[in-house]
Amino acid sequence: MQTETTEVLLRHALEESGQRFTEQRAAVYRTLVATDQHPTADEVFLAVRHDLPGISLATVYKSLETLVGCGLAVKLTYGDGSARYDGRTDPHHHARCLACGRVTDIEGSLPGPQLDMLRERADGFLVTGYRLELSGYCPSCAPRASVSA
Ligand SMILES: [Zn+2]
Ligand SMILES: [Zn+2]
Repeated sequence: MQTETTEVLLRHALEESGQRFTEQRAAVYRTLVATDQHPTADEVFLAVRHDLPGISLATVYKSLETLVGCGLAVKLTYGDGSARYDGRTDPHHHARCLACGRVTDIEGSLPGPQLDMLRERADGFLVTGYRLELSGYCPSCAPRASVSA
């Protein structure tokens, strides 16, 4: 049942963007919506290979970009050139571990007045959205981090 809903959503979004529905894209999308781990393309590739043994890493990359282009996934990019993908597109924030790279979801949004204040400071910049990322150490990395820091 869950899978069917996911597929209907995918078909619809792909059509809207003039893209074809393919088994590969569906498998990549299923993998993304089934996890809250914000996987890298390599991690998606490893997971999708269980369903579609013949799929290539290049196809996974392209499928991920297509999903991002259709608004079905969000790409989180980092300064070191790495990227993670999020199948969750409703407003939420992230906390990223500086030691292991794990990204977890944080619920909530900035209160309107806070956002207005930032917008005023942006000085003529047309604000269309914002991203908030907390950085630090996840529970399993925190003890070691505080010892070595
Ligand atoms: Zn960590
Ligand atoms: Zn997320």
